[in-house]
Amino acid sequence: METNQVRILSNVKVSDRYWHMTVEAGKLNRNVKPGQFFNILCSDGVYPYLRRPLSVFRIDARNERLEFLYLVKGLGTMKMTELKQDGYIDIMGPLGNGFQVKNDETELLLLARGVGIATLTALADEAIKLNKRVFAIVSARSEKDLLAASYLSSIGVKVYKVTDEEGSSNLDYVEGLINRLLVENNIRSVYTCGSRRLSLLLQKIAKEERLRGEIALEEHMGCAMGVCFACVCQINEGTELKSARVCVEGPVFPLEKVVL
Ligand SMILES: Cc1cc2nc3c(=O)[nH]c(=O)nc-3n(C[C@H](O)[C@H](O)[C@H](O)COP(=O)(O)OP(=O)(O)OC[C@H]3O[C@@H](n4cnc5c(N)ncnc54)[C@H](O)[C@@H]3O)c2cc1C
Repeated sequence: METNQVRILSNVKVSDRYWHMTVEAGKLNRNVKPGQFFNILCSDGVYPYLRRPLSVFRIDARNERLEFLYLVKGLGTMKMTELKQDGYIDIMGPLGNGFQVKNDETELLLLARGVGIATLTALADEAIKLNKRVFAIVSARSEKDLLAASYLSSIGVKVYKVTDEEGSSNLDYVEGLINRLLVENNIRSVYTCGSRRLSLLLQKIAKEERLRGEIALEEHMGCAMGVCFACVCQINEGTELKSARVCVEGPVFPLEKVVL
């Protein structure tokens, strides 16, 4: 478990509610996998005392940089917006287990809601590098919250945007869209983050269609080191229900095992 003081290369507002931070990661980013996260000290002051978990949004290996995309929610993320270029930020990680892309998968479907796309973008990057075809259904309140959609399109992901504003983010529409993509393509693996409602839908479809699925969970966290048990979720292990810590055993879990 490492804490790292890294230099902030940029920290900018990208929409009403979202900010994007790039840090100089040096050798650190060689060990980072899509789906993993860092537990971040959000301010130079005493408050907030607890770090806040953020997934790695992009792993820029060539330039040795890491990027985070964050939604400003409360004190921690608000304090992060005050951090300036060329200042330093303390990030602990990489933490947790990341996503797995199997060799025999040729086509993948990502399903994200809101800032859940921050967690799935690094996975899309990796899958594209591995010459997989990637489809992404990106759901948000409004068009301006579909932050990573244009980036995903630019790297070759086939993106489907659905929004509350347009009335296209409802479950029936998304279910129809997923089923159409499954019929028209050879998608055998699905990945999701950001919405319990959408994850339940994907869990149901994955079971019916016998797809391999992974989910990245975002539970409230305390220590992020497996000690405090603040982030426990329930996992189906055969006929038994077991507790699992999102920070250590997750945040990525097999979709079929998670009790949503
Ligand atoms: C593994 C992991 C990866 C994450 N990756 C990202 C990311 O890439 N980008 C991003 O914007 N956010 C991400 N999150 C969520 C992020 O950690 C929280 O939004 C953040 O901690 C809120 O801190 P805050 O001090 O700004 O708000 P707080 O004042 O702590 O909380 C504001 C509101 O958000 C709720 N909240 C706090 N933490 C969480 C949480 N973990 N899940 C759900 N609701 C919460 C609180 O109950 C409160 O209502 C991730 C969470 C986890 C566990």
